[in-house]
Amino acid sequence: MSGTNPATPGAAPGPGAGPSAGPLDLSMMARALALADQAANLGEVPVGAVVYRTSDGTILGEGFNRREINKDPAAHAEFAAIMGACRAIGDWRLNGCSLAVTLEPCPMCAGLIVNARVGRVLFGADDPKAGACRSLFAITTDARLNHRAELVAGVMAEESATKLRSFFRGLRARGG
Ligand SMILES: [Zn+2]
Repeated sequence: MSGTNPATPGAAPGPGAGPSAGPLDLSMMARALALADQAANLGEVPVGAVVYRTSDGTILGEGFNRREINKDPAAHAEFAAIMGACRAIGDWRLNGCSLAVTLEPCPMCAGLIVNARVGRVLFGADDPKAGACRSLFAITTDARLNHRAELVAGVMAEESATKLRSFFRGLRARGG
């Protein structure tokens, strides 16, 4: 699935412009959004992620942001989902898998995506401050690296962005 990545930094994700999300992908992103809610309920920035088998949608790993609870800078949603999927299948290679994550992965997670050979990455909202799939960097589609993931940006982006906005609005209201 890798190797055909028309997505470039700043490219519009409009329909028909390369790979798109199917019904299975959308249901997985809905699951990721529910996981983001779990993070928010714990006072964490609401980001959720699911890794699933691309062929049949079997969920292999899930995660949500737990950075504050775990006191762990690596406790990002997609990091946990990828590690969980590798444990589930007993392999570090996730070529046949897709990752749905509600926020554009950061450089650390984009690096893990490349190292885990994740076949497809679908994300919701762009992250202009840390995004490493197209906003600041395009690590997951960089031809200089030895793996490229198929990238679908902007999947249910508004739902994801709304959760993030309301979370931060709540923080400010509480003086946090
Ligand atoms: Zn990350």
